[in-house]
Amino acid sequence: MKEIEDAQKIRRTVIDCFEKAVLPGLTEEERKTNLHFVVVGGGPTGIEFAAELHYFVHEDLVNIYPSVKDLVNITVIQSGDHIMNSFDERINSFAEQKFRRDGIQVLTGHCIPSVSDRLINMKNKATGSDDSMPRGMVVWSTGVGTHPVVKDFMEQVGQEDISEMFKATDKDNSGTLTIEEFQDPQVELYLKNKHLFDVASLLKDTDGSDRLEVDIEGFKLALSHVDTQMKSHPATAQVATQQGAYLSRCFNIWEKRKDNPEGPRKFRSGGGHEVHPFRYRHLGQFAPLGGEQAAAELPGDWVSMGHSTQWLWYSVYASKLAGAHDP
Ligand SMILES: Cc1cc2nc3c(=O)[nH]c(=O)nc-3n(C[C@H](O)[C@H](O)[C@H](O)COP(=O)(O)OP(=O)(O)OC[C@H]3O[C@@H](n4cnc5c(N)ncnc54)[C@H](O)[C@@H]3O)c2cc1C
Repeated sequence: MKEIEDAQKIRRTVIDCFEKAVLPGLTEEERKTNLHFVVVGGGPTGIEFAAELHYFVHEDLVNIYPSVKDLVNITVIQSGDHIMNSFDERINSFAEQKFRRDGIQVLTGHCIPSVSDRLINMKNKATGSDDSMPRGMVVWSTGVGTHPVVKDFMEQVGQEDISEMFKATDKDNSGTLTIEEFQDPQVELYLKNKHLFDVASLLKDTDGSDRLEVDIEGFKLALSHVDTQMKSHPATAQVATQQGAYLSRCFNIWEKRKDNPEGPRKFRSGGGHEVHPFRYRHLGQFAPLGGEQAAAELPGDWVSMGHSTQWLWYSVYASKLAGAHDP
């Protein structure tokens, strides 16, 4: 789900399920099947969706389709032992209890190998047994994927980009990179994390001998080594905004370099415009649970749940909607 049209499609599909369920001549089982909404994935997005769907159905749709209001079922299927397992366990059990009270069924320890026209097929992870249940609408929510535009771009860039990077870095066009040419902010961060103090330690060849220069193959090898060691950040808006701000700072620095390559003189460092490696700062996470309740996990092992947390969530979101920024 990437664009507003995707959300509209979900809304239309929910309403279609109700329209099909009230058609004349159906058995009660057929109506129930149409009104069985299954959410695959018990992470914060799946849980927020299930909670919002519950309230959309019970606050709005049951007034329009009163004849089928008792036939609606929402099921969340989660492969792990608990829903919201990236959160503190106090939040897991609070969310599970709340869903139980709301009548949302939670099925943990099950994977979904396939979905057919009217059935959702499941595998019990503990016993290995297969099972299935009739389904109306299925919403797949097992992780945020890459935007198709970005995916296309990544495919176009692919491996060729390494030779472009190599060319750009090889300032004297010698066909090899010296230690000075090789330096890059992300490589520096990697070295710091690995407690390595100079680039030469990364440029060791396969026998472990030191090298002062690398050719393109050595460059690829060193970069792939860095890539395997780097941790990827969660696919959240919090990471994306910090990365966006970081990139804009980098672009501004590069722009300033054009006019003033020397950069400001600095007392501590060697001067010049410094580009620091990207560092993610985790400020905590929220999960709306529906019914004006939310859960929050903030730095310092601070966990909070319930109605007051929903108000905290509203305040954080409201504060993000407006702000004073440099043009
Ligand atoms: C259902 C769902 C719930 C989520 N919930 C949360 C949450 O609660 N908290 C959280 O932190 N994260 C959440 N996320 C993740 C969060 O939305 C993403 O991590 C974040 O939006 C990524 O930001 P982005 O700028 O990289 O991409 P996007 O926010 O996807 O922005 C990409 C933009 O590019 C535009 N675009 C597309 N094609 C083109 C083109 N050809 N030319 C120009 N522009 C184009 C799109 O319209 C879009 O505006 C959720 C994601 C989903 C799908």
